[in-house]
Amino acid sequence: MEGLKHFPLDDKMDEEILFECPVCSEAVPHEIIKKRESKKHLKLTVRCLNCGHTHNIEKTVKLKDVKIIISRYGESEKKVVQFPTDEILEVGEVINIQGEDVEITSIETTKRVSSSKIQDIETLWAKSISIPKKVGISINDGKTTHSVNVLVPQDYVFDNESIYRIGNAFFRIKMIKTEKGTFKREIAGKIKRIYAENVKPFKKYKDLSEYYSNL
Ligand SMILES: [Zn+2]
Repeated sequence: MEGLKHFPLDDKMDEEILFECPVCSEAVPHEIIKKRESKKHLKLTVRCLNCGHTHNIEKTVKLKDVKIIISRYGESEKKVVQFPTDEILEVGEVINIQGEDVEITSIETTKRVSSSKIQDIETLWAKSISIPKKVGISINDGKTTHSVNVLVPQDYVFDNESIYRIGNAFFRIKMIKTEKGTFKREIAGKIKRIYAENVKPFKKYKDLSEYYSNL
């Protein structure tokens, strides 16, 4: 089943998927040229995007409908997706659901588990990481603290050395809080909250104004 990992088994044909290439001898991106499937059988003709070699992949697949609840900014949507029964999923893993990258946040079998074979899974919870990340920043001016939100790309890097600007406010980051602790530098996707302090206007700064959100 190795080569089928995260193959979404829907009608999207234009995605790049990792398969073992017999020429490259490693898992590399392939494009699917042709797909024939029945409920239990899948035959793919694929082309290696690394070396151009075309080969066939045949699998006998048992599929299971799994309920997945995807959250985006606190709203959630329920979908039912078919997965191969012997695929293993784990919390923290990123999978593609109908073109949207989502990170698995919780897995329920008969109880909450951190990983499981699909065949035992009742419900998956996930958060979309295809959308920008909303990051809350608490800025202290010495007397009071006010909060602003920015919507930035998931891989936007914040650090405690830069001066940031939003509109007329200039600030420096004191602490970046994530699920795993506090950091001096982190990507937006992992950040729970940023704590910052106002500074005087500065010539060199990173402007976050365009990312400001009043959501
Ligand atoms: Zn190849």
